[in-house]
Amino acid sequence: MAMKWSIPAVEALKADGLRITDLDTSGTPGFTGDKSEGLVSLAERATVLSGLQEKLYANGRSGDKRSVLLVLQGMDTAGKGGIVRYVIGSVDPQGVDHAAFGVPTEKELRHHFLWRIRRELPGGGQLGVFDRSHYEDVLVVRVHDLVPPEEWEPRYDEINAFEEELVYEGTTLVKVAMFVSLDEQKRRLSERLERRDKHWKFNPADIDERAHWPAYQQAYQAMLDRTSSGHAPWYVIPADRKWFARLAVTELLIDALERLELDWPPPQFDIEEQKRRLAQI
Ligand code: ADP
Repeated sequence: MAMKWSIPAVEALKADGLRITDLDTSGTPGFTGDKSEGLVSLAERATVLSGLQEKLYANGRSGDKRSVLLVLQGMDTAGKGGIVRYVIGSVDPQGVDHAAFGVPTEKELRHHFLWRIRRELPGGGQLGVFDRSHYEDVLVVRVHDLVPPEEWEPRYDEINAFEEELVYEGTTLVKVAMFVSLDEQKRRLSERLERRDKHWKFNPADIDERAHWPAYQQAYQAMLDRTSSGHAPWYVIPADRKWFARLAVTELLIDALERLELDWPPPQFDIEEQKRRLAQI
């Protein structure tokens, strides 16, 4: 297997000090191969990811409380859905705990912003996936003044404290911010209008949001600057090339799972005894 990373994805995609406005959204940081090599690599690495996730799940079934939580953030059309479908789609769905966070309900709005998030946290052995997350509360909320600054401003610290607690309790966070260019977003939105099989994905409000692009960039920058910590770093994924974004997230998840140093859980029975019993019936 030809590994085409000159720098491991976890290094090449770190958010540290990155300015979003300088990001080449069509780049493939750390990866030296082209699209066809990327797709070959993606298929190979999906198998590795699937094997690791099975071990996580198996350990969870044996009482291991650890979990991995993939947090996906990105503007409309950035490809969050594609990550869920193609990357998470390559692992055993029994071990996946998926949650998508849209506009909060009236009931959710009556609670602290982390209330609905806590209810969806993955249990031991699960690979959790958040399609949008608590970060919307410092992104869309900030851009559209949905609450006054006095209310969203302290949320960065609250999020850091919350995530520190999660990590302490055994959840490995993989926070991924996906970025497409304004042009690429236009292309993807126009495809949604052209193709009958994509109309269901189109939301007229997505066009309105384009007018707020600079404000979103600012909010995303503040999010990266203020909530990328040693225990829960952000990774920035240039997402104009879907194959790269999917490969990159696959690599980040593999790294997170490898760091758990998972082995198959030991049997809770005597193997020889069970073989003897089985031979008798
Ligand atoms: P998607 O657009 O990802 O396919 P939905 O149609 O369910 O999913 O809607 C997501 C929308 O919900 C986005 O516009 C997002 O900004 C909004 N949203 C998510 N969380 C919040 C929040 N806490 N406050 C306000 N809007 C939110």
